[in-house]
Amino acid sequence: MIEEAVASLGEPPFRARQVYEAITRGLVTDFSAISTLPVRLRKALAARLQPVTIEEVETRVTRRGDARKTLFVTADGQPVEAVLMTPPRRATVCVSSQIGCAVGCAFCASGRLGLRRDLSAEEMVDQVLAAQRALKPEGRHVTNVVFMGMGEPFHNYDETLRACRLLNDPAGFGLAARAISVSTAGVVPGIERFAREPLQLNLAVSLHAGTDVLRDRLVPLNRRYPLDAVFTACERYVARTRRKLLFEYVVLEGVNDTAEQVEALARRLRRPLFHLNLIAYNETGGPFRRPRPGALSAFRGRLEAAGVRCTVRRSPGDDIKAACGQLALRSVRAAAQ
Ligand code: SAH
Ligand code: SF4
Repeated sequence: MIEEAVASLGEPPFRARQVYEAITRGLVTDFSAISTLPVRLRKALAARLQPVTIEEVETRVTRRGDARKTLFVTADGQPVEAVLMTPPRRATVCVSSQIGCAVGCAFCASGRLGLRRDLSAEEMVDQVLAAQRALKPEGRHVTNVVFMGMGEPFHNYDETLRACRLLNDPAGFGLAARAISVSTAGVVPGIERFAREPLQLNLAVSLHAGTDVLRDRLVPLNRRYPLDAVFTACERYVARTRRKLLFEYVVLEGVNDTAEQVEALARRLRRPLFHLNLIAYNETGGPFRRPRPGALSAFRGRLEAAGVRCTVRRSPGDDIKAACGQLALRSVRAAAQ
């Protein structure tokens, strides 16, 4: 887009590189601020292009100050949200890849929106650039990007990978590939394609259940890609990449933390490079309950005793409704009233 606009103005290609650098490294939001360009070019570009594709509407910060969630609006008026988590020494942006999601997991607010549309790579990168801009005054910068916001990245594979390549581009934002993670609800062809990507990106697979009976209920995509198919693809992924594979598991008390699930999970997960990450369910108004204090660590203990490597992810931002999809859902409801 930048190249085409610059070329159509009869300018040499190095001008396009200057604009790209000013946006991805200089974090400018306005062409008039690109001081390396002649003023007439700045004006001509401003008349043709928008340097940012999404506009910030609202940012909420947690009481502890360890996470902030931003609601953006796209040029066509759609809500997009991104969360910036800032534990000590890290700054991780949780990026949305779609507006809503077609998968419809039983516990997820994004699913309730249905799929409205895919996001473009630029709309994804702009969520990260906004976070970088917010961190700059504190002398900090984005250290990690996870595609774990709204949407199923492998239902929007090409744009998600294009966003990863843009973020990684040493001539642009320059984030290491190993600092970028993509999370899927188990789209098997996507996992297979991802295993063949030349970039050393990380993969996470959202599991949420160890048996097909339960997973069919929690993650409807399981009816299309059941656990055997998902795990065949996952085993191939680790065999090919030799990279660690993270399985995400939202713990729903009394539903997926039973002895039956522990046994089923152990059978599937006792493999080198497989790692289970437990996340306490954030209330989204459904029938599920967040595990009581102690229940989560008890579940972890039973899994470890059964030979599963696992960790508990502290989920910051519960008080700002940082569970994926919650803020966007609220904004859609507010707009409908
Ligand atoms: N669609 C992809 C990526 C986005 S969802 C996927 O499902 O992997 C990313 C994560 O958000 C999921 O792993 C799920 O663990 C988490 N999530 C969704 N709803 C949640 C909720 N109500 N509480 C806690 N985590 C939730
Ligand atoms: Fe979609 Fe992921 Fe939410 Fe499931 S958990 S509805 S796949 S965004």
